[in-house]
Parts: sequence; structure tokens; C-alpha cells
Amino acid sequence: MKNPLLSIQMPSCYGDAHSPSVFLPKRMAKSTPDTLRAMLDIAAALQNEGGDLILSDLFRSYDMQWQAYVDYRSGKKKAFSPPPGGSLHEAGRAFDIDLSRIGVPLATFWEIAQEYGVFPIIDTPNPNQNEAWHFDCRGSHALVYRYYAAGQGNNLKPYEAMAASAILSVGLKVDRFRGHNDQAFLQSGLIRLGYRIGNMDGILGPRTRAALDELGIASPVLPNAVGQMELLLQERFPNEYSSSYLTDCFSKEGYR
Ligand SMILES: [Zn+2]
Repeated sequence: MKNPLLSIQMPSCYGDAHSPSVFLPKRMAKSTPDTLRAMLDIAAALQNEGGDLILSDLFRSYDMQWQAYVDYRSGKKKAFSPPPGGSLHEAGRAFDIDLSRIGVPLATFWEIAQEYGVFPIIDTPNPNQNEAWHFDCRGSHALVYRYYAAGQGNNLKPYEAMAASAILSVGLKVDRFRGHNDQAFLQSGLIRLGYRIGNMDGILGPRTRAALDELGIASPVLPNAVGQMELLLQERFPNEYSSSYLTDCFSKEGYR
């Protein structure tokens, strides 16, 4: 089982004076379990301060990300959007928020968000800066970021590597691996489990194979290898998968 993408309900900024609170449109309303949990926890923390977590964007399909990129390139959309394969939106791990509704200064929001494993994409808490509204729930893919930032891989920038790893983990494609998505997923898993295998490039070279062997994963039959890797990742990062964790999260917070 891949890391699940859940259909969720979160308040969005798309209401009007007559119906101010509407949920995020269904096509965008998908996230990983740990991202949902983080958003609900952050929403509860903001509500204590008289604010709220109101979303303007969350999941983007390949086509939606492609359109966002085209609109950015043509100047129709001001906010930077990378081509498909480079955004945590495509993994249900990034969300954009209405900064006018958080009820706290942006710097305070950063502190709250960080407590729940959610990070900004800009360097200083300046609400007027482009992308000040964008936040990432990096999860275990932060390990891929750190691996590349430490120079263990050099074919991708750290953020691109993290995004690719996150997208593969929800079972979606990343063009740069040229159809070798399962192989790249195995490499993403190995990196997150602490192995040094060089680049995540979709090629099962000697270092990747040696690491898979060490874990007892038989790499020749890809679907089996992917299944075995999923089980190991589920064990190591249960809150990115677990349904019991989610049931707990639903019963605790509920939905408005
Ligand atoms: Zn965004």
C-alpha cells in the first residue's frame, strides 16, 4: 500500500459574504494523514488565539501543477510554480493559507507550525513576500532533503529531491525518472531508512542493490520489492500511514 492520499474537508477562502465558510473544492482537498493531522492541530492552536486556518490551495494533480506552471510562465499567475514533479502540493503535503485570517503575526504562525512539523518555504516571516502563504509538511521526506543538502546525492537540488520522494510515495509519477518510478521509490525509501546509495535516479545500481539485499528485499520482482519497502516504511513512519492514528485524529478534532 502506498502512502495514502485522503479526501478531506478543510475550510477554504472561496466563500463569499453569503456563505463565508466553504470547504476547499474536492479536487484540491486531498492530503496525507500526517499533513491532515498537522493542519487540524495548527487550526486548533490558531483558534485559541482567535484566528483560523483557512486554505486557498492544497493538493494539485499532475495536470493542475502543469497548469499552475504554465500560468506562472505566461505571467497570468504571479506566484512561482515549478513544473510537475517539483512541488509538495503534488504529494498532498503543501498547503497555501489565507494570511489575513491566522489571527497572529506570521512569525508566531511559523513557531506554531514548526511545532507540528510544518515549515515555510521563504527565509523570513515577511507576509508581503511571494509564497509567504505556502507551508510544507515534510514528513520523512525531510530526510531526503537533508541527504541531498549534505551532498550525498547531486543530481537534484535538495528541495526537488524531497518533492520527488514525496510524490512517488503517494503513488504518483515524476517525469524525471522516465518511467522508472518504482525504482526511484525504492531509492527514496532506502534514503529515508538511512542508507547511502548515491543519487535517487531510478537506476538500480550496485549501491542500491546492495542496500536492498541488506534489508532482505528481492529487487528483481519490482512489485514485490515495492510492497516490502512499503511495509518497512510503514513501520518506521507510522503516522504517515496509520488509520488508527487517523481515527484518533477524527474523534479528537472532528470537522467543522
Ligand atoms: Zn503553495
